[in-house]
Amino acid sequence: MERLICMGCGAEIQTENPAAAGYAPKSALERETVICKRCFRLKHYNEVQEVDYEDDDFLEMLHQISDTDSLVVQLVDIFDFNGSLIPGLNRLTGNNPVILVGNKTDILPKSVSRNKMEKWLRREANQAGIEVADVYLISASKNEGIDALAEAIDHHRQGKDVFVVGTTNVGKSTLINGLISRSAGVDDAITTSYFPGTTLGFIDIPLDDTSSLYDTPGVIQRHQLAHYVSDKDLKLITPQKEIKPKTYQLNEEQTLFFGGLARMDFEKGDHSSFVCYLSNRIPIHRTKMDNADHLTETKIGDMLVPPDEDSLKKMPEWERQTFRIPEGKHDVVISGLGWIMIPEGDVTLHIHAPKKVKVSIRESLI
Ligand code: GDP
Repeated sequence: MERLICMGCGAEIQTENPAAAGYAPKSALERETVICKRCFRLKHYNEVQEVDYEDDDFLEMLHQISDTDSLVVQLVDIFDFNGSLIPGLNRLTGNNPVILVGNKTDILPKSVSRNKMEKWLRREANQAGIEVADVYLISASKNEGIDALAEAIDHHRQGKDVFVVGTTNVGKSTLINGLISRSAGVDDAITTSYFPGTTLGFIDIPLDDTSSLYDTPGVIQRHQLAHYVSDKDLKLITPQKEIKPKTYQLNEEQTLFFGGLARMDFEKGDHSSFVCYLSNRIPIHRTKMDNADHLTETKIGDMLVPPDEDSLKKMPEWERQTFRIPEGKHDVVISGLGWIMIPEGDVTLHIHAPKKVKVSIRESLI
């Protein structure tokens, strides 16, 4: 039988296993352009279906890039940098040059300097062992910075192929669609070819007669909060517009709840202000630390939302992590939820968040 590839995601079409990648009902095969059920639902109902790709499959695929002579474009979500950076990328992609692209600039408060952000991205990438040839900031959905990026890609690729890589949810499809519509042929520009030796497909978008831009499947990072909430909550926690920072003057032994998705206990330190950068749609609730355990046990999913009922079924138990914040301004980052700017001084905090969701400290971005 002829191999069919899904036009949407590049997976090989199969009609046997509805839970696996590339599933389409037999009736769908008669259509002129075949897309898998997952892409179909995404396109028509904006609904995301889980597929049981093993994480290793993705990494295995990316590893094939190391055998090519190409340019790699790694897209990250600047709202969730740690959650969206692919660790050990250089090992996966070999000696090929990497352009790091920070997406979703539209949600950053205007007070954030671009220059500082670019430097910060470069530094963080270096610390993660990724050497970058260039850094760009874009908003794929607002179509900002796409022209400059496209020119940079052309400049750096020197006639070679381009692989666009990223974790799920960073805006890769949005960017690729933007690049395609910019480069004329619109939808017709996509052809689907099968990348040799892979079990999953890369989507091939021809750049010229001899080279292509490849869209790769999104790498799943288990510490992204996105994997533990319902589709409805995912829309709530993902900022859609410029974040309006919310400032709280706290005394020690006070707690902030971020919906019912995480909480911060300010255990020790001088009275000072904490600035929260989260989706505007996550309500923040302030209470006494004394009261916080009781609220955690009784009010999550009730007074403290999101999570909704579906998220509650998926969400791992909370885990408490203690941080003693070093000198200088720092952010506590809860991967996928946002960050809190912590005042300078000797501050001790406990962060309670679903197990697996990464919580980290960084030098303040703002
Ligand atoms: P993919 O999983 O990497 O292919 O990501 P998608 O392109 O499907 O985008 C994931 C989510 O991020 C969607 O809700 C998009 O609407 C949103 N998104 C993509 N680009 C941007 C952007 O530039 N700004 C904002 N605010 N959201 C974006």
